[in-house]
Amino acid sequence: MVKIGSHVSMSGREMLLASAKEAVSYDANTFMVYTGAPQNTKRKEISALQIEPAWEYMRAHQIQEFVVHAPYIINLANTVNAETYELAVEFLALEIERTKAMGSQVLILHPGSHVGAGVKAGIDRIAQGLNEVLNADSCYIALETMAGKGSEIGRSFEELAAIYDKVTYNDKLRVCLDLCHLNDAGYDVKNDFDGVIDRFDKSIGKENAAVIHINDSKNELGAGKDRHANIGQGTIGLEPIRYVVHHPAFLHLPKILETPYIPSPENPEKKVAPYKEEIQILR
Ligand code: FE
Ligand code: FE
Ligand code: ZN
Repeated sequence: MVKIGSHVSMSGREMLLASAKEAVSYDANTFMVYTGAPQNTKRKEISALQIEPAWEYMRAHQIQEFVVHAPYIINLANTVNAETYELAVEFLALEIERTKAMGSQVLILHPGSHVGAGVKAGIDRIAQGLNEVLNADSCYIALETMAGKGSEIGRSFEELAAIYDKVTYNDKLRVCLDLCHLNDAGYDVKNDFDGVIDRFDKSIGKENAAVIHINDSKNELGAGKDRHANIGQGTIGLEPIRYVVHHPAFLHLPKILETPYIPSPENPEKKVAPYKEEIQILR
């Protein structure tokens, strides 16, 4: 069966239990959470995350796995500001602990932005940071393929492969393929997903894919932008996305929607999650 879900929130008193309930409300059988607000590093104690009740609920609702996304403010690639880098390393070490404690195997990470120092300096710094936090007991860190806006690293498989090459415990590295980002970075997932996967396989190995982010894109192939569109409303389109979701090589992987909220049919002032409908059309 296809494993499909969306990002859901983790907040309030029920925390991870609330996340699981939100996922089930969309008829999802997997999901993705940030361990707190994606824009900051304020986090609750692990003991307050309601992990046990959440797993009990998941087991009762056919959810066997979920993934965690690190906050996007952490920038391991920063060589310009030592404090930003140190904060990123410290926080990432804690995110690995939280991910494991929550019972997830996969922590998704944006590799980072070199902020002007150049791709090579950025890649070296990311690898250095990963080497500080990864050990034989870590969960997997899935480096996300990026759109290439600003000075983002990870816009090509070769950049991710260069990180792999420099990381000691690179058996702990995986990749999160984001369809919007791939399209915006110039990979033609719309017309030639198999060709894209071939290139991925040659530079990193397709068995390294751990998660697929299922997003349409508001921009043309190669735009270098990163604006997600709802499924079938963007430049990729419904059928190519459905093809990816049901691709036999990746059937076992969690597929996670990160599409934008839409105006509520009852009250257009209010925005609602599109995930239940999008999951339904993609299943
Ligand atoms: Fe992401
Ligand atoms: Fe993504
Ligand atoms: Zn994005």
